[in-house]
Amino acid sequence: MKFCVDTDKKNSWYIGTDNYDQFLLNKVESLMAQGNGYLGIRTVSEERQLDERRNMFVAGTFDEYPGEVTELPNLPDLINMEIVIDNQVLSLRDGRIEKYHKYLNLKNGELVRIFTWIINGKKVFFKFSRFVSMKDKHLIVSKVEISSDQDNLNIQIRSGIDGQQTNSATQHLMEGDKRLYEDRFIQLVEETQQSHIKFVFNVRHKVYVDNVLLNIRPYIKMGRRQIFGNYDLNLNRDQTFTLVKYSNVYTSLDQDIKTKELATQSIIKLKDNCKKSYRELLQTSTKVWNKEVWQKSFVEIDSEDIRPQTAINFARYQLAVNTPRDPRMNIGAKGITGEGYKGHTFWDTEIFMLPYYIFTMPNIARDLLTYRYLGLAGAHKKAQANNYRGAQFPWEAAIVEEGETAPLWGSADIVTGESMKIWSGFIEQHVTSDVVIAVMEYLNATGDQEFAEKMGYEMILDVAKFWSSRLEYDQDHDRYEITDVIGPDEYKEHADNNAFTNYTAQWCLQSGIKVYEFLLKEHPDIYEKLNTKMNLENEYPDWLERVNKIYLPRPNQDGIIPEDDKYLQREEIDVTRYQANNQVSDIFKDYNLAQINKMQVTKQADVLLLIYLFEDMFSDEIKADNWNYYEPRTTHDSSLSLSTHAILANDLGLSSAAYRFYEKACEIDLGVHIGKAAQGIHMAACGGIWNMTVEGFGGLRIENGQLRIEPALPKDWHGMEYQINWQESLVHVKVIPGQMIVAVSGPEIEFVSHKQIYRVPADSEITVEVSVKTEI
Ligand code: BGC
Ligand code: BGC
Repeated sequence: MKFCVDTDKKNSWYIGTDNYDQFLLNKVESLMAQGNGYLGIRTVSEERQLDERRNMFVAGTFDEYPGEVTELPNLPDLINMEIVIDNQVLSLRDGRIEKYHKYLNLKNGELVRIFTWIINGKKVFFKFSRFVSMKDKHLIVSKVEISSDQDNLNIQIRSGIDGQQTNSATQHLMEGDKRLYEDRFIQLVEETQQSHIKFVFNVRHKVYVDNVLLNIRPYIKMGRRQIFGNYDLNLNRDQTFTLVKYSNVYTSLDQDIKTKELATQSIIKLKDNCKKSYRELLQTSTKVWNKEVWQKSFVEIDSEDIRPQTAINFARYQLAVNTPRDPRMNIGAKGITGEGYKGHTFWDTEIFMLPYYIFTMPNIARDLLTYRYLGLAGAHKKAQANNYRGAQFPWEAAIVEEGETAPLWGSADIVTGESMKIWSGFIEQHVTSDVVIAVMEYLNATGDQEFAEKMGYEMILDVAKFWSSRLEYDQDHDRYEITDVIGPDEYKEHADNNAFTNYTAQWCLQSGIKVYEFLLKEHPDIYEKLNTKMNLENEYPDWLERVNKIYLPRPNQDGIIPEDDKYLQREEIDVTRYQANNQVSDIFKDYNLAQINKMQVTKQADVLLLIYLFEDMFSDEIKADNWNYYEPRTTHDSSLSLSTHAILANDLGLSSAAYRFYEKACEIDLGVHIGKAAQGIHMAACGGIWNMTVEGFGGLRIENGQLRIEPALPKDWHGMEYQINWQESLVHVKVIPGQMIVAVSGPEIEFVSHKQIYRVPADSEITVEVSVKTEI
C-alpha cells in the first residue's frame, strides 16, 4: 500500500506530511478534513494559498441557485487569518520554510501545523492547531502560537468571519446583520437565497503572551460580508504569542435553539465555551470521540504493517466526521468535505456505508434509514411523475422531502462536443431496491420492531408497489421485463434487463409479499392502517401474479450471468491498460460514452455486486465463473468497485487477489493518485474499508437472517479483533491463526460458521477452530 501521507509505525492514528507542495494541496485538504457530522471544514491553511479550496459546510442546509441543482452552500470562512510579521504578509511562497510538518490526529480530529518561516534574516516559529468539537457540534476552536529569534517582532493578525465565499462562484448566502457584542464578540448573520435557512456565525479571540491573557480590545473592521478583529503587538525573543479563536455556527434547521433566538443564544453559548481553554475543550471532545466512535466501532488488526490499521482508523474517522446525526439529513457521496456531488446522497449510503453503522452504531443506521422514510413524499412524487405507483427513491437526494435532485446535464462529449444528458436521475432505478436491502439488513441485525412497525414495513410495501407498477409485460415470453435502465455499471445506459436491477426488483416484490402476509396475519391493526394508506389489497394480487414471472438473466452455458440483454454480444476491448494506470475514467480519453456503451466494459461491480449481496443464490462455481468473466472487463472507475471485488475474491479463496484489491481500495483516498479526492472524500470507499476488513477478512455476514462468522485473514495478518452489535448483544470476535473466540455481553446469541451452528450463552465466550482457506 502506498499512501500520499506519512504514517507512523507506532501510531495508527497519525497521518501527516512534510510537504506543502501545490500538487497534493487539494487532496490533503480533503484527507485531513475536520468535522463532527454537523459541520465539516476542509483542511485549508490559515494563510491563503494558490488554488486552495476553502470550504465549510453544515449538513442538510441545501439551497438552489436559479438554473442550478440544489447544493450545500459554502459557508463563511472561519479559518483564515492574515498574519503580518514586521510588515511581511505570511505566505509559504515568500522567504524560506523549514521544518514544515502538518498532521492530523485521527483519534480526536486535532490538526497541527508547525513550521519555521525565515524572512529577512529572522526566524519565526509558527504552530497552528485546531479542532471541531465532537461534544458541542457548533464549536470550532483554533490556536496560533508564534515566537521568533528576534526582539521587538511586530505581529499583526486579522482574523474573523469572511463571508466572501462562494460555491465555485455561485453565491448562496444573503448578508444579514453584522455586529459586535461587548467589544469582543463578532457576529455575522446570513440567509440562503432560496431555501431561506438562517445562519449565525460568532467569533471571539483570546490573546496571550506567555500564557498570560491580555486585556486587549480588537480593532474591528467590517467589509461586505466580512467582519474582522485586528490585533497588533510586539514580541521579544523569549516570549510566545498565542491567539485562541473560538467560533460557532448555528442555523435555523437546528433543533437545540429557537430560530428567533439564534443570534442571542448562540452568543451565550460561545461565551460559555470561552470560559474554557483550548486544551479543556479538546479533552471533552476527545472523550466523546472515544466513547461514541472508537469504543463502539472497535477494530484491531495485528500486523507488522501499520497501514491496514491506519486505513480502518481513517475510514472510521471520515465516517464520523461526515455523518449527520439528524434523520432529516444523510451522508453525501463526498460527505461534507468538498463540493463534489454537491452534498447529495446516493445509494452509496445504503450499500456501502450502512453495514458499518448497522453493526456498530445501530441508532445512527436507524436515523439514516429514517431519512429515506421521511423521503417517501419525494419518492411518491418521482414515481407519479414517471407514471408509476408507490415509492421510487431519487438517484440523488438532498432536501429530504424534495425527491430527485440529480443534475440533467454534464460535461461535453469529447466526440460530438455537445453537453451530455445525465440519465441517472431518470433511469438508474436500482437505488429503490438498495434502500430495501438496507432496511432488511438493519432489521435482521437489530430486530428493531419499533422501526419495522413505524417505518420499515411501510417502506418495503411501498417499494413493492413501485416495482410492480414498473414491470413491463412481454407477451411473447409471458414474462415481466425491466427495460431502459442504468444498472450499477453506469457505462451501460438504456440497458434492458440489467441483472442487478431485475433480481433485486424481484427480491423487493418477494419481501413485500412476505411483509403483507405477515402483517395481515400477525398485526391486523398495522395492516389496516397501511392498507388504508396504500391500497394494498388491490396491489397484492398483482404482486403474486408477477413475482415469479420477472425475467431473471440466468447463468448461460458458461456460467455467466449476462449483465443485460446485449452485454455479452458487445465488442470486447482490452481494458488492462485502464486498470493498470490508476487514473480514474481514463477510458474517456479514447472513447465517448456512446462508444463505451457498445463495448464489454464495466465501470464498477454490477453482476459481481449482485453475487456478493445475494450470495446464497449462487453456487461457488457460478461465482468464480462470473468473477473470471467480469473482473477483466471492469475499469473500476467508481470508488464503489474495489471493495466488492476484494470481498468476493476473499470469498472465492483468491487471497492474493483479495489483498491486492483491498490495498487498492484503501488507496482510493489515501493513495498517491490524486483522483477525485481533491473534490472530497469518497465516503463509500470509507464504508468499503470497513466492509473489506470486517465483512471480508473478518468474515461477518448475515445469511438468511442469521449471523455468520467465517474469517479468512490475509497471510500477513497475525490476527484481528472486532466488535459488533447483534440483536440485544455486543459481540466481540477475536481471530488468531486456527481459532476464533466469540465473546458476548448481553443475551445469548447464535451464529453459523462453515455450516455449523454455535451458541454463545449470555455474557460468556466460546472458542471455535477455524480452517484457513487455500487459494483455488
Ligand atoms: C455519476 C452519476 C451522477 C452524475 C451527476 C456522475 O459522475 O456517475 O451517478 O448522477 O455524476 O451527479
Ligand atoms: C458511481 C455511482 C455512485 C456515484 C457517487 C458514480 O461514479 O458510478 O455508483 O453512486 O459515483 O459516488
